[in-house]
Amino acid sequence: MKDLACPRCRRAERTGAVYPPRCPCGELWQPGDGARVPAASEAPTPLWEDPVEVGLVWKREDLNATGSFKDRGACALVALARDRGATALVLDSSGSAALAGAAAAARAGIPLTVHAPAAISPIKRGAVGRLGARLVAEGDRNAAAARAGAAAGRAFYLSHVHHPAFWTGTAAAGAEALAEGVPPIWVLPVGNGSLLLGLALALKAGGASGVRCIAVQAASCPGLLRPGEPGRSVAAGIAINDPPRRDAILEVLKATGGRVVAVSEEEILAAWRALWRRGVAAETASAAVLAGVWRLRAEGMDRPVLGWLTGSGHRESEPEARWSGPSSLPTP
Ligand SMILES: [Zn+2]
Repeated sequence: MKDLACPRCRRAERTGAVYPPRCPCGELWQPGDGARVPAASEAPTPLWEDPVEVGLVWKREDLNATGSFKDRGACALVALARDRGATALVLDSSGSAALAGAAAAARAGIPLTVHAPAAISPIKRGAVGRLGARLVAEGDRNAAAARAGAAAGRAFYLSHVHHPAFWTGTAAAGAEALAEGVPPIWVLPVGNGSLLLGLALALKAGGASGVRCIAVQAASCPGLLRPGEPGRSVAAGIAINDPPRRDAILEVLKATGGRVVAVSEEEILAAWRALWRRGVAAETASAAVLAGVWRLRAEGMDRPVLGWLTGSGHRESEPEARWSGPSSLPTP
């Protein structure tokens, strides 16, 4: 069955031991007719009721094996790679995708090369090495992506942006949430959209449940609202200037009646400190969700909310040291 489909030229492909990261026409792949449907996972994450914020329940994706929701997608993608006879894996990341990919590859026993920027944090550099992956840390983020793209002709590209099977893993989180009867307003951090697009698969498979998806991003790096605009954020996990799947992300928000909420660096850091004081070692990208909920509450939205706590802050270097001062851009 062909599991990759091009939405532009209608070409369909079956993933092999290697696959082209894009359709020859240049478009990114979407799930084809042969793509696996999302199923509940074997290791569900718990829900946690916020002890301070009334009506806020968290889905604790930070409690996955390497501390982020990306474990789910990486496991799905490595399972596919193994099924198709891949003997080598490659990915580019300096963040949670590198750890999730390295752990999944180690469990499957398939060698992985991680291409990262030279500035990869010592915490992640050490972890990727201990998990047994080969790390090439040179140049900037674009250079790392270019090296991985070039290697994709010889190794299976473990990319959460390029292969839609990643979403079948993150969709399992959505299927779990639906089965648990969570509040119908889902607030989540969105960078490249690999969680949101997976949740959309789960909502589709679950038969449109009236769930509204609200994407939180950093006002100082507004890739969804103003793509291509330069900017940085302490919330490194969502600091994507020009998300390749932006159109698909905006489509999901529109289809579910959701929207983008942009929060300032100050709000993200305040929410981050608040979550740690509540006993949860959240990463800054997840803290952006709490900042987003504060915004929604200030606007008068008082309905119960499911917040997606996507990653653990244990793996993050000190955000306050990375903060470059007050937000330089106005928040919408
Ligand atoms: Zn095409």
